[in-house]
Amino acid sequence: MALEGKPVADRILKEVKEGVEELGFSPGLAIVRVGDDPASKVYVSSKIKRAEEAGIKGTEHHLPETATEAELLELVHQLNIDSSVHGFIVQLPLPPQINAEKVLEFIYPEKDVDGLHPLNLGKLVAGDPHFVPATPLGVMEMLSHYKIETAGKNAVVVGRSNMVGKPMSALLLNANATVETCHSRTKDLAEHTRRAEILVVAVGKPKLITGEMVREGAAVIDVGINRIEGKLAGDVDFETVSKKARVSPVPGGVGKLTVACLMKNVLKAAQEKK
Ligand code: NAD
Repeated sequence: MALEGKPVADRILKEVKEGVEELGFSPGLAIVRVGDDPASKVYVSSKIKRAEEAGIKGTEHHLPETATEAELLELVHQLNIDSSVHGFIVQLPLPPQINAEKVLEFIYPEKDVDGLHPLNLGKLVAGDPHFVPATPLGVMEMLSHYKIETAGKNAVVVGRSNMVGKPMSALLLNANATVETCHSRTKDLAEHTRRAEILVVAVGKPKLITGEMVREGAAVIDVGINRIEGKLAGDVDFETVSKKARVSPVPGGVGKLTVACLMKNVLKAAQEKK
């Protein structure tokens, strides 16, 4: 059985919409995009579209590829103090002249709906999460929707980025799984992945995970997004892995959940400001 994202995302977006109706006002989400990365452009327009559907006012702020760090920090400052903006994100990646860590640290933690401020990442690791990055949050929603128990299970996360791998490992640990985090320097990846009852893959390499690397009956969540000849593909070889395990497809899996969980974070930010 494929672990489809759509039913989970639809439920979350419905709950967000109901939450917004209860609030009595439209929460404001601002999205900052710098430069002309084509994938970022697509992601931002889909976030704005989903926001509007959920009753959230989404606004895009676009700076040119040549924007300086000071210009971006000034925009972040304006959004920090704008009371009509309940939460905002700076779409990554940023052009090389801008230090992304510095920008993320400049965002007020109470508006950091991407959960990438060190305070929010720290709270997550401390077991007291506030805003959690939307992609790993979406994976947890998927596990819960498909009634995949985490407590006491062997979970393996492949990838250790601040946006996906690390918060994913922290969430699974907080949910009482026994967690291993694998990465580019891991020796014999298959030896680790074969132990996983829950395997989350967030690397960006098509077909990195094949059938023989996966345990029979495992739940495999494919976070990877790769573009091959204009088509989207994940990091998991769906054909061989789906014969042994439940797998989330790409497209149609985690991607939809990321956007839905971002809206969940925006609603939370607005509820706290009420
Ligand atoms: P990243 O490049 O920051 O991190 C990739 C990680 O993979 C690194 O930690 C690295 O150590 C690890 N890695 C690289 N080669 C490896 C190998 N051979 N074996 C094991 N580990 C290896 O990327 P990211 O931002 O974490 O994103 C990962 C993937 O997830 C990308 O394909 C990205 O497009 C996708 N993504 C999807 C969503 C979504 O909504 N579905 C959201 C964010 C990212």
